[in-house]
Amino acid sequence: MTFPALVTERRDDGSIVSQVEMLDDARLPPGEVSVDVEWAGFNYKDGLCLTGGGGLVRTYPHVGGIDFAGTVRDSTDPRYVPGQAVVLTGWRVGELHWGGFAGRARVQADWLVPLPLEMNTRQAMILGTAGLTAMLAVNRLAHAGVAPDDGEVLVTGAAGGVGSMSVSLLSRLGYQVAALSGRPQHGEKLVALGAKSLVERAEFLAQPDKPLESARWAGAIDSVGGVVLGKLLKQIRPGGAVASLGNAGGIEINTTVLPFILRGVSLLGIDSVMQPYEARLEAWDRLASLFDFPAYDGMVEEVGLADLPEAAGRILRGEISGRVLVRPR
Ligand code: NDP
Repeated sequence: MTFPALVTERRDDGSIVSQVEMLDDARLPPGEVSVDVEWAGFNYKDGLCLTGGGGLVRTYPHVGGIDFAGTVRDSTDPRYVPGQAVVLTGWRVGELHWGGFAGRARVQADWLVPLPLEMNTRQAMILGTAGLTAMLAVNRLAHAGVAPDDGEVLVTGAAGGVGSMSVSLLSRLGYQVAALSGRPQHGEKLVALGAKSLVERAEFLAQPDKPLESARWAGAIDSVGGVVLGKLLKQIRPGGAVASLGNAGGIEINTTVLPFILRGVSLLGIDSVMQPYEARLEAWDRLASLFDFPAYDGMVEEVGLADLPEAAGRILRGEISGRVLVRPR
């Protein structure tokens, strides 16, 4: 039986092109578990993979899709049985290994996580890598001592996938969330997700630069990096913490040591890709009980495989809000 897949090729002139093709099981890479993919997520990194950005994809032809959810079709690993609902994020699937932009995927059993019973595959992909990463960031902030009554927590890139998930999760836990975005048109949606205040990126960056600025935020979750991260570090309150997880605005930060040595600020790195199994399981279980799916409804867009090359341009230009779900069949 064949299934559709978005196959990405590199042409002789170096250009990267993707088109939908019908494949059969023989084309799939080796692995212990075959999964009928019901939903895939669409992330900033998927945009890079579909356009050859960041050097993430090394061999072609390639099938992208860094996260997906579906049901097990067959398995040589006793932990998984046909019909079981599973989710996969990370492990460089969709980059080095073929991913979820196909009706079927074959992967290593160790990369999968059984879906919590309360969550269906569509909900799993509304969350996807973005939700998992936001959950890990929220957990790290809490472990670093940032508590809901400590004051405002700033979320940057708030209209994006990880940012909007972070706004929602922090607000569910009782934090006062300030949402920083370059797109004021999404302010209402962010307020509906639980943001108590909105910060315009241009205004935030326009404030005069000093080594330390007035201490405003108890903590922050940053998916932007670059000048935004450099700026917000100067505004963290004594003892506060920043979870750094993305680089949508740049990979370099310009900072001094002053926030760290005069205010005891902590900079916490978040990597969802290589998280061990137990940590994933715990995060997915917490997401199942915490995440407000109905409140997030207005932030979800659904597309098919053929729409993805166009969506790649949009996500790289910062034009997508919330989460894009891919229905591969
Ligand atoms: P999205 O594109 O959905 O969100 C990124 C947001 O960043 C945009 O919506 C926009 O927010 C803001 N942004 C985009 N471009 C710029 C810019 N030039 N300057 C300032 N802000 C900008 O992406 P994701 O949420 O999927 O991913 C966000 C980041 O996190 C990416 O860098 C991604 O690679 C990284 N990531 C890291 C993970 C990890 O494990 N560490 C896992 C998942 C993602 P707004 O419109 O509100 O301003």
